[in-house]
Amino acid sequence: MLKINNLHASVEDKAIIKGLNLEVKPGEVHAIMGPNGAGKSTLGYVLSGREGYEVTSGEVMFNDKPLFELEVEERAREGLFLAFQYPVEIPGVSNMEFMKEAVNAMREQRGLDILTAAEFLKKAKEACKQVQLPLDFLKRGVNEGFSGGEKKRNEIMQMILLEPSLCILDESDSGLDIDALQVVADGVNSQRDGERSFIVITHYQRLLDFIKPDFVHILAGGEIVKSGDASLALEVEKGGYAFLGKKYEEAE
Ligand code: ADP
Ligand code: MG
Ligand code: MG
Repeated sequence: MLKINNLHASVEDKAIIKGLNLEVKPGEVHAIMGPNGAGKSTLGYVLSGREGYEVTSGEVMFNDKPLFELEVEERAREGLFLAFQYPVEIPGVSNMEFMKEAVNAMREQRGLDILTAAEFLKKAKEACKQVQLPLDFLKRGVNEGFSGGEKKRNEIMQMILLEPSLCILDESDSGLDIDALQVVADGVNSQRDGERSFIVITHYQRLLDFIKPDFVHILAGGEIVKSGDASLALEVEKGGYAFLGKKYEEAE
């Protein structure tokens, strides 16, 4: 599904990702942990095609297509969901209009019928309930005046509606309260179906108490330095990143 091969990427001419390899197969949940400044968020931004993040070498294949040859919108239509792709406020465009466009673009790409306004509204209301947002959120401007927790819930609602095949969530710096954390975890768990894959980027182990990953990877100094199963996250919780040695510990 996703294959990252020897990826190198820079921000403002500074090399941040330095030879990263990762393979995600259908249905798998991968957690990426690592010390602050390791390049976790950068990895997410590079995959999302954010401006200013330059791929200097390496290759990423998504559904057997070279990811970096796809426009950002095409990546989404191909089934890649990046929770932080739409964090901007779009005043004057309601959440409902915005999501209906996005969902129908995705459906068209997959050869599915376009949803009518009524059909979409029904789905949107269900998703709203699932993430515990009041229904009037659908009428509000995209992210306009949303609190941190509401933005999170909204992201998970987008994920539910877009039915992606690979979801990448960056929960590193979001300072989630326990309720919002639970919403993120429930959202992910409800969407796990043996086919859909997840990459959950997180600085803290706590989220992984609620989302049980199949694999845990430690990203340090721009590469994955250790991989294991869920128990690796517990090791990190106990001992921090000291096992990486001085070089990485002091990366920040
Ligand atoms: P993490 O998410 O693992 O904490 P980041 O990916 O945010 O780490 O950052 C990795 C490194 O890249 C840090 O040294 C950070 O200062 C640097 N960096 C990230 N974004 C930028 C940017 N826009 N300009 C300059 N340096 C950046
Ligand atoms: Mg950081
Ligand atoms: Mg980060």
